[in-house]
Amino acid sequence: MEPVSTCKLFGAVRAVSGICNAVPLIHGPRGCAYHIGYLLTARGGKRIRVLSTELTESDVVFGAADKLKKAIIDADRTLKPELIAVMSSCATSIIGEDIGRAAEEVKGEIDSKIITISAGGFESNQGEGYLEVMMTLIESIAADAKPSDEPSINIIGEFRGGPDLNHIVDTLGRMGVSVNCVLTSGSTVGDIEGIASAHLNYSFCDVSGIGPCRFLEEEFGIPFIHHPIPLGFSNTLRFYEVILEHLSIDYTLQDEVSEYAEERDRLRSELEGVRVGIVSGPTRAVALAGFVTELGMKPAVVAMDMIGEYTLENLSGTGLRSEVLVGADLSELEDALIRNEPEVILGGVAETRFSESLGAPLIDVMHGYALTAGFRGACVTGGRVLEAVRSRSY
Ligand code: SF4
Repeated sequence: MEPVSTCKLFGAVRAVSGICNAVPLIHGPRGCAYHIGYLLTARGGKRIRVLSTELTESDVVFGAADKLKKAIIDADRTLKPELIAVMSSCATSIIGEDIGRAAEEVKGEIDSKIITISAGGFESNQGEGYLEVMMTLIESIAADAKPSDEPSINIIGEFRGGPDLNHIVDTLGRMGVSVNCVLTSGSTVGDIEGIASAHLNYSFCDVSGIGPCRFLEEEFGIPFIHHPIPLGFSNTLRFYEVILEHLSIDYTLQDEVSEYAEERDRLRSELEGVRVGIVSGPTRAVALAGFVTELGMKPAVVAMDMIGEYTLENLSGTGLRSEVLVGADLSELEDALIRNEPEVILGGVAETRFSESLGAPLIDVMHGYALTAGFRGACVTGGRVLEAVRSRSY
């Protein structure tokens, strides 16, 4: 009754809003655009532009294809984007408005590339929205390309930019690996056109990243890896190792490992036995469970809004023995947290409500402003947990 995941349209808008100079245009009432734009702006701390055809009652009864065509042309002329992604909403999916046809009819009058996504909220959850945008982009924009001269990878299913992504791209660059395209955070339309020139794809999202990776493997022969993401000391080491192995790059990681080993050992000695609640999307939850365990803490409960095909297998690889929730609603999640008595919660701002009522400090590891990735990110997150535990004991 109190869902923990959101609608397909949210995922579609979020995926498109990560692309440079791209605009999502929702064919629906104004509320969809306002609420999604508000939430994404609040979470990411930067302006997210979400356009709407702002349908009225008569539009959703009789259809409003002309209004949509005018909105596409206006968006193209006023904002001059490289890409317009037209999306249906609940209202226009229910009446079966043909957004593909409307886009086709104005294609010759605009300079932007245009894609259409059926994104009625009831069609599915946000994971399906991410997936459909990435698949549509690859199928309609990516061109066949010869492999780049330098070893390169694509990161697939990464929607939060900021310090984590910058850190990963910089570190890979130092190792001699260039990041060809990130789907979608920070990519340009040109990056997506050239996505097939990478030597390897790495999925960062268990729910939405595997499909595009499989497609790129079948269509262009690019192999892919999906586990682990570089969050925590061991996961980070393994992440760089598998990429370097795959690309046959001779680079010793020992310097990186040694630089952070002392801090890792200090954190482990201070945090041993601390009970942690993890509330997250599946890929991050698996990585966090491994991170918490390697520092000697105990994952008291792991709650995920949804899972992908490899999530439970990867989670069992962490040796986890705690309660696992998948798609539980808010009251079930609250009950599980009360039952398992975590001392700190690793989650996002939405977990503030539980943090306050349980007296368990919240470490927000979801929303992109703090570094969490790589060896350095592991030290930062470990330090934040330690600070929270200490503040709790006073
Ligand atoms: S559930 Fe439907 S009405 Fe609500 S935001 Fe999503 S598309 Fe719009």
